Amino acid sequence: MVNGVLRSGVPPVNARVASLGGSPIRELLRISTSPGMISFASGSPANELFDVAGVARSYAEVLAAEGPRALQYSSTEGEPELRARIGAFLTAKGIWSTAEDIIITSGSQQGLGLIGQVVLEEGAVVLTENPTFVSALQAFALGGAQFRAVETDEHGMVPEALEAAIVRHSPRAVYTIPTFQNPTGVTTPRERRNELADVLARHDVWLIEDDPYSEIRFRTEPHSPIASDPRLAGKSLYLGTLSKILAPGLRIGWIRGPQEILDVLTTTKQGMSLQTSTIDQLAALHWWEHNDLEEKLDPVRAEYMRRRDTMVDGLAHALPEGSTFNRPDGGMFVWASLPEPYDANHALSVAIADGVVYIPGSHFYVADPVPGTLRLSFVSTSVERIEEGIERLHAVFTYDYQI
Ligand code: PMP
Repeated sequence: MVNGVLRSGVPPVNARVASLGGSPIRELLRISTSPGMISFASGSPANELFDVAGVARSYAEVLAAEGPRALQYSSTEGEPELRARIGAFLTAKGIWSTAEDIIITSGSQQGLGLIGQVVLEEGAVVLTENPTFVSALQAFALGGAQFRAVETDEHGMVPEALEAAIVRHSPRAVYTIPTFQNPTGVTTPRERRNELADVLARHDVWLIEDDPYSEIRFRTEPHSPIASDPRLAGKSLYLGTLSKILAPGLRIGWIRGPQEILDVLTTTKQGMSLQTSTIDQLAALHWWEHNDLEEKLDPVRAEYMRRRDTMVDGLAHALPEGSTFNRPDGGMFVWASLPEPYDANHALSVAIADGVVYIPGSHFYVADPVPGTLRLSFVSTSVERIEEGIERLHAVFTYDYQI
């Protein structure tokens, strides 16, 4: 055989894609589900806070009312009424949108993958926060993109550093998660957002703004997305999702962007998956139209805040002296730094043996990983289990782990 498996014995796969490999974080998530383990690693929302009954009702009512239409193929860009609903939701967040400005994706992750294929290409440079969301890097790398880090501080990307990086690297795009960032929990304040928008408006570069967490806020008023700046309307892509608002298993996300790009994203999606599930879109829309989102989210926010407080209050006791950590105003993650010469990767094997798992921060860097950092998720573990996990971490750093 000439092109196939037989001649070389190696399956004929795209060499670049095959070389990318999987995410080491996935392996940690597998360990997190082993019996007795307390997981601060998972990025999953809390099972017990899902509105299972409400979602069941929506599926039943959609099937009763729509029948075969809910089970039929539908358009690649998504259900028009759901797109209109999302348009109204985004308009209320300060980013004026109609159904035409939006396409539905199978989770934000598909949106990131599509952007990786359509906006990026072999060798295109993307500027990112450092550390950043690894699965976005994975999605962009599939298209051949390369990454350069922009300096960040406790308010997110530093505008002067962004401008310097744009001048230096001539990037195709800037990827940012300005609200309750994954992995650091950092939020960029309004003033800083304006400064970043000023920089982006001055240069020919795309903004890819990823916003899965802004509804999971504990106290602050929401900030408008950076992409809401009218100067960026023709060169920004804003991604959202129902994963943290309703349920990630639904796989409903969206991209808001200019028409010409949405058209190409849509034809690309057509070639990959035809469409996002019709019944899932209709059920999600039904749920959204029959529930008050704020009323539904308030108890979730309150419980997550309790969990955050338990974790943050416990960390002072659990981590070695000289450690630092933040208290994010929302989202799912606390970011901690152990003092030198601690290494969160080395400590992890001891932590796993002691029954607690977190994600070493070094996995999230595009450059210069800092070995003492760790990401701790506070949402998917009950307050009691967080307390127990904190005790286990205390044992790791007090008795069991030798530097
Ligand atoms: N972006 C970020 C920053 C995320 O943290 C996640 C989920 N962990 C996603 C995108 C993907 O979300 P979805 O479930 O919508 O694919």
